[in-house]
Amino acid sequence: KFITFEGIDGAGKSSHVEWLAEWLRGQGKTVLVTREPGGTELGEKLRTLLLNDPMHLETETLLMFAARREHLAKLIEPALARGEWVVCDRFSDATYAYQGGGRGLDRSKFLTLEHWVHAHVQPDLTLLFDLPLDVARERIALASRVLDRFEQERAEFHERVRLAYLERAHGNPSRIRVVDANNSLDNIRKTLEQIVSTNCL
Ligand code: C5P
Repeated sequence: KFITFEGIDGAGKSSHVEWLAEWLRGQGKTVLVTREPGGTELGEKLRTLLLNDPMHLETETLLMFAARREHLAKLIEPALARGEWVVCDRFSDATYAYQGGGRGLDRSKFLTLEHWVHAHVQPDLTLLFDLPLDVARERIALASRVLDRFEQERAEFHERVRLAYLERAHGNPSRIRVVDANNSLDNIRKTLEQIVSTNCL
């Protein structure tokens, strides 16, 4: 099974990724945990470029999909072929939301690239962590870490990203489940357990 995690920065995805992987291992599954952009050695180099160097929107999108192609070929597809579970922090819905919703990339270009790079692979389940923007920004401020160039964008950008994610979830209701990330850790974990049990186990 291929499960992806999505959401605006500050939604708390990454810690839930780790928790879900451990929970699945507890159910006897072999789980590969990975992230985008990144995952492979080349992908991590592309991640460094993408998060730090300002570039043309189409360059940014093409690099995201280039990293994704590498990630699928080297890590995700082989793991799925071995019958393992793959839990991935962000995937194509992030490109739809950030480069599409956030930066205004043409939807048709996104669809072309998605079809090219992974028409044959789609997540079985996507967990979209949603929360109000001010709560997300507060969490990021509290963490007081160095912000990448996406996190440094203005609130309007993140609001467009959030709306694009929700619109995508609306259009793909059987694959994408919206999780209220403005909730206690315990409640979120119970929700994840329930969604994954009903949809994947
Ligand atoms: O989730 P994580 O913080 O690791 O993502 C790294 C950054 O890359 C995020 O700030 C996210 O906004 C950005 N990103 C993006 N487009 C994607 C994937 C990630 O802008 N397709």
